[in-house]
Amino acid sequence: MTKEFTPDAVFHSDTDTKFAAEEYKPLGKEVYIKAGEDMSDKGYQEGTLAGVIRMRMKREGKRFWAGDNISDYVTDSHKAKLIDETALAFETVLDSLLIDRENDPNSKGTAKRLAKMYFNEVMAGRYESAPDATAFPNDSADRYEGMLVVRSELRSMCSHHHQPVTGVAYIGIIAANKLIGLSKYTRIAQWCARRGTLQEELCNDIAREISRATDSENVAVYIQATHGCCENRGIMAHSSLTQTTVLKGAFKLDQGVKKEFFDNIKLQQDFAPR
Ligand SMILES: [Zn+2]
Repeated sequence: MTKEFTPDAVFHSDTDTKFAAEEYKPLGKEVYIKAGEDMSDKGYQEGTLAGVIRMRMKREGKRFWAGDNISDYVTDSHKAKLIDETALAFETVLDSLLIDRENDPNSKGTAKRLAKMYFNEVMAGRYESAPDATAFPNDSADRYEGMLVVRSELRSMCSHHHQPVTGVAYIGIIAANKLIGLSKYTRIAQWCARRGTLQEELCNDIAREISRATDSENVAVYIQATHGCCENRGIMAHSSLTQTTVLKGAFKLDQGVKKEFFDNIKLQQDFAPR
């Protein structure tokens, strides 16, 4: 099959046709992208929207690993189209698994269900922008200067096996010049978690985003979670628990602060054992 390719002025402004052709080789697909009249996303005709977005991210050096947020590149209207594309791809997966999705009533809508679940639920944190965390000033004479520890329930998915990760994060900060609503800690943690993650990375991501939202350099995150990939397959370990900790600023440097953080976690666990 001869490859016909006209670079789109928007998506390929500084690339040549060879780049794009190479890009699609691993997909085993012939892709045709033609410049549109209005130079908008309508500029592509055949090929996939996912392919166009992926190409744009590659060209702009944007990392798009399973745990990365790519909301700057995916609009709501993109999402509907991407779900359709993903559903088609899942149909192929089910076919390859030799599952009769035409006659098995339980497998009929599975491809579309999976596609929606990935975009709207288990990986929603990749496609949605950061939750609004309105900050309240904490700079009066009687400002709060103590430690704050928030317990957040976590649901995530490991990027190695796409198995569920279930646990709790304890987020500690020493209040700086602004405070955010208590529920925002959990919203931010969930936004980081609803992606394909590694627990170690997730711990870092939550610490970074909490630090950004609160302007506090003194942040600690402790996560304990069970992993479906250890429970449902592989070693089939039903009571394994993974613990990770990230300590920044005073939590790392001051033994007293560190101890207070872990003492608070113990108190929380006595109060609400998981
Ligand atoms: Zn895994």
